[in-house]
Amino acid sequence: MSTPIKALAAFGSKQALQAYEYTPGPLGDDQVEIAVESCGICHSDLSMLDNDWGISSYPFVPGHEVVGKVVALGANTKRHKIGDRVGLGWNSGSCGACPQCLSGNQNLCPTAESTIVGRPGGFATRVRAQWTWLNPIPEGLDANKAGPMFCGGITVFNPILQFGVKPTDRVGVIGIGGLGHLALKFLRAWGCEVVAFTSSDAKRAEALELGAHRTLNSRDSSDLKRAAGSFDFILNTTNVGLDWNTYIAALKPKGRLHTVGAVLEPLDLAAFPMIGGQKSVSGSPIGSPATVDTMLEFSARHGIAPTTETFPMSRANDALEHLRSGKARYRIVLENDLGD
Ligand SMILES: [Zn+2]
Ligand SMILES: [Zn+2]
Repeated sequence: MSTPIKALAAFGSKQALQAYEYTPGPLGDDQVEIAVESCGICHSDLSMLDNDWGISSYPFVPGHEVVGKVVALGANTKRHKIGDRVGLGWNSGSCGACPQCLSGNQNLCPTAESTIVGRPGGFATRVRAQWTWLNPIPEGLDANKAGPMFCGGITVFNPILQFGVKPTDRVGVIGIGGLGHLALKFLRAWGCEVVAFTSSDAKRAEALELGAHRTLNSRDSSDLKRAAGSFDFILNTTNVGLDWNTYIAALKPKGRLHTVGAVLEPLDLAAFPMIGGQKSVSGSPIGSPATVDTMLEFSARHGIAPTTETFPMSRANDALEHLRSGKARYRIVLENDLGD
C-alpha cells in the first residue's frame, strides 16, 4: 500500500505532536505493513522526542510498542499472512548476514534499523518493518495490553535468559516503573525470590502487589548495607545515577549488577569489590526475535500482562505529559483513533 499514512509527528525537539501525513513509497521486498491497533509509550519515545541522544530527526513520529494487523506483504517476506495480529518493538530491521544475525542475535546487529530512528514509528495508522521483527501475538495474550511487551517487556525479559537467572536466585529490581513492574511479574513467575528496591512507602505496597516478595528502601543506606552479600542478580531499570558500589556490595560472590536503564552519566565503580567477589556489571538492549517469541509464550502461560492505562492516540500529547510527570501506572497504551 502506498496510500498516505496518517501519523502524529513533532517538528522539532521537545515540541508537541501534530497531525502529519506521509506517503511511504513502495513496500520493500522484505517488509510487512501493519495497520496499527494500539501503541505503547516508552521512555525512549520521550528521549527521542527531546533529542536526548542526539540521533533524532524531524518530523519525528514516535511509537515502538505497536500491535496491529498485517495489511501488506513484500515479495520476500516469511512467517506472516494478511490479517495476522503481530507486534513490533524497538527494532524494525537487521542485516541478516553478519555474525550476530547469523547466530540468532539479531538484536546485536551493528546495522540494525530502529523503528523510530530516521524513520516513522507507530503513532500512526500504519507502520512498516522487516518481517523478522514482527512477532505473532499468541492466543491467550490480551492484544490491547501486548504492545508494551515489545520494548519494555523484552528489555527486562532478555537478561533473565542471557545470564541464566535461576529459579533459586534472589533477584533485586531497582525502579518500579514501565520496565520494573514487568520485571517483578516475570521474575516472580520464573520462581525467583524477588526483592523490589523502592524509594517510597507508596510504591512499597504496589511492588508487593506486582510480585515482589519484599522490598528494600533504596533511599535508606542502612537498609542496603544490611543486604550486603545477599543477591545473585540485581536489575536496574532506572536511568538515574545511583550509589553503585552499595549495590555491588549487596551482591553475593559471582553476583551480577545489570542495567537496562540508560544511565547517561558514567558509572562510578570501585574495582576491588568486583575482583574479590568475582562480580560483574553489564548491560543489554532488547532481545532477539526468538527471545520475544519465548517471552510471549511464557507470558501467555503464566497470565503475565503489563499493567496499563489507555489514551486515544489523538490525545498522545496528554499521554506523553502523563508519562513525563512520572504518574503512569505503569505503561501507557494509545489506541488508534486516527483512522485506517
Ligand atoms: Zn546483522
Ligand atoms: Zn522502548
